[in-house]
Amino acid sequence: MSKVQTHHSQLPILPIRDRVLFPYLHVPLVVGRKRSIQAVQTAFSGDRLIFVTTQRNLKATEPSREDIYEYGTVAEILQIINMPDTTLRVRVLGRHRARLVDVTFENGCLIGDIQTIDTPSLEKENPVHLEALRRLLVRKFDDYVRKNGRIPLEVVANVTNMTSLDQLADTVSEALLIGNEEKQDLIEIIEVPKRMARLVEILDSEIEILNIERKIQTRVHRQIEKNQKEYYLNEQMRAIQKELKQKDDNGRDIEDLRTRIKALKLSENLEEMALKEVGRLEKMAPFSPEATVIRNYLDWVLALPWNIVTQDDTDVPHARSIMNEDHFGLEKPKERLLEYMAVLKLTQEIKGPVLCFVGPPGVGKTSVAKSLARALGRQFARISLGGVHDESDIRGHRRTYIGSMPGRIIQTLKKVKTKNPVILLDEIDKMGSDWRGDPAAALLEVLDPEQNKTFLDHYLDMEFDLSKIIFIATANSLYSIPPTLLDRMEILRFSSYTTDEKVSIANQFLIPKALKEHGLGEGSVKIDEDALRKIVHLYTREAGVRDLGRKIAQICRKVAVEWVQKNATDNSLKNIVIGLNDLHHYLGAADYIREKISVNAVGISTGLAWTDHGGETLTIEVTTTPGQGKVILTGKLGAVMQESAQTAFSLVKSHGAKLGIQQKSFNKIDLHVHVPEGAVPKDGPSAGIAMATAIASALSGGAVRKDVAMTGEVTLRGRVLPIGGLKEKVIAAFREGIKEVLFPRGNEKDLPEIPENIRSGLKLIPVDTIDDVLSRALQPAPLKPVMSPRKASHLPGTN
Ligand code: ADP
Repeated sequence: MSKVQTHHSQLPILPIRDRVLFPYLHVPLVVGRKRSIQAVQTAFSGDRLIFVTTQRNLKATEPSREDIYEYGTVAEILQIINMPDTTLRVRVLGRHRARLVDVTFENGCLIGDIQTIDTPSLEKENPVHLEALRRLLVRKFDDYVRKNGRIPLEVVANVTNMTSLDQLADTVSEALLIGNEEKQDLIEIIEVPKRMARLVEILDSEIEILNIERKIQTRVHRQIEKNQKEYYLNEQMRAIQKELKQKDDNGRDIEDLRTRIKALKLSENLEEMALKEVGRLEKMAPFSPEATVIRNYLDWVLALPWNIVTQDDTDVPHARSIMNEDHFGLEKPKERLLEYMAVLKLTQEIKGPVLCFVGPPGVGKTSVAKSLARALGRQFARISLGGVHDESDIRGHRRTYIGSMPGRIIQTLKKVKTKNPVILLDEIDKMGSDWRGDPAAALLEVLDPEQNKTFLDHYLDMEFDLSKIIFIATANSLYSIPPTLLDRMEILRFSSYTTDEKVSIANQFLIPKALKEHGLGEGSVKIDEDALRKIVHLYTREAGVRDLGRKIAQICRKVAVEWVQKNATDNSLKNIVIGLNDLHHYLGAADYIREKISVNAVGISTGLAWTDHGGETLTIEVTTTPGQGKVILTGKLGAVMQESAQTAFSLVKSHGAKLGIQQKSFNKIDLHVHVPEGAVPKDGPSAGIAMATAIASALSGGAVRKDVAMTGEVTLRGRVLPIGGLKEKVIAAFREGIKEVLFPRGNEKDLPEIPENIRSGLKLIPVDTIDDVLSRALQPAPLKPVMSPRKASHLPGTN
């Protein structure tokens, strides 16, 4: 054991809390406590030496003798920096170990009686042993620093090069990351080899701890990794299971589809086609867009009534009673439909052309077709063709289009769920065509019994048999039906109703139906005949009975409100008879005014027209103005009507002599022909004789009889040619109070169609030539003729 040299000195004491100060080391210290600051300042003003020792009791703010360790280090204060927060930053250099012998409190700080401890000499030690110890210590320290990872590696290099073992030991001690108590131990070991041995011990234990730490860490790390892996695998497993389950569901689904397709009992090749689609579906991811397309398609295939038919009830007397139950009159269509049924019964097959009901709106076309379906016990559906101008409307879009669908025929079959419904092809005359293909051509195929057994819808792409369907077409006029279609159809005309017919329909059908619909008891409201006639004349203007039905409904609504408001138990309210004078109360002011031509006038004749909406009277006005023999036409006249005005003018010119009009005067006047009233574009040649009459009147100055109406085409030579729609026109004339109708002799065959009461209510005069017309309609000119005198003998007055 080496000899320890000691001597004493009085030094201020600086107790520190966060570390242990070793000799040889430069260390910055933060000094904040008042006593410590005082101690530093006292030392700094003297020989700058201060005794630095670690505080044993960390809680003591003003530590006393017992609160601090006995052994510490005497340090030299190298620098003091006053910090703004009144603390001091003090840089010190540890000089040597020392021991506190006694403590006094002077000038505000602790002053210690300090005994210096000099490091014992190593001369007597075994140098080999020391070297071995040194190497061991350095190696262990190196190992420790590397494993610890928080101490700069330079410290190791530094330590390796140190020649003083004492310095080496203290430097290592300082660097170790161990507790203050252990470090304090090292301060207290004065002899160097002993201290080095202790350090090796500490390093061993620290390294062991580090090794274990590292092991634990790897294990934890591995555990976490393992957990993650398990989690990941679990997730994958779940995904796989889900997939398998879907596949399973899908598999069941696919099998289900197959069974359902087989249950359709399709023909062999159709079944094969459908099953092929199922096969394609099976190979696809269940929720892919392609799979959805195929699924939709198969839904269509499965929803169609491939083999579902209703049994026909072909009991003709029963059918007749149903038709009569539903409709007033309409004898011809009813008879034709009964024939149709009889043939159906005998042949079990739909024979002959498709029926086409032609007539103005509201005359019962739809409703008769519905009755037929009801009588036969078939489903009924209506396809509106108005505005259809694309082939794919009829025949569908190919499946390659996004959102493609079957055409209307197949759509309708899905709806009615039987393959033999009655289908009404409504407004076949309003169908157009454009660049997307002609719907008429597709329709032709639908209606053709040769082809419709194997109708191919573009979407469905499987032949469907349409031959069991009864198709009935409707049209307002035949004008715009493509001739190829017209060829395939048998036309059945529905004509306008006369006022009497309308009154009967109202009493027998419309009023009972409206009462029922409005919850009013049977027979509780009556509209007397005069009132009904007034409704027909002044509240509606139509060929059919749609508006009449609406007006009756309007009355029922008003009655219902009154019942509810007043107390429905009051019986006086329950038998209402609506008379002429009540109409204003129930319906307000009349919608139409029947303007009567009040006097026989020059240059004004009454023609008759036939439009989609039924018959109309047509006023034709002609005036002359000075000019060069031109014809001016106004009033939205169609091309044919314009031509017929020209023809009429030429005709009157050539008949001028007969009328007493001088040839040369035609060159000095212009003729203005105007057809006022009504928004319906006027066309057709049937106003020819009416125009010629008005022109003749204007030029001759003779008035036209106001109670004569006329219809007929006229040729340049004055022949009167037959026209269409005589019945409608005569009904219109009768309605307007005309007494005499001039019509082409060629139309005499149509007379039986005109209701008896009308035929007897006015005179129907067949005419052959324009002379016949003028002789009846034109009155003699006044004695002072406008243009030139006429031979009065030629025009017998007929008033
Ligand atoms: P359309 O198809 O000719 O345009 P609708 O068949 O739709 O006309 O007839 C319109 C309404 O008039 C329907 O409620 C219908 O029942 C009724 N109707 C038409 N004609 C008659 C009639 N002769 N007998 C009974 N009701 C009729």
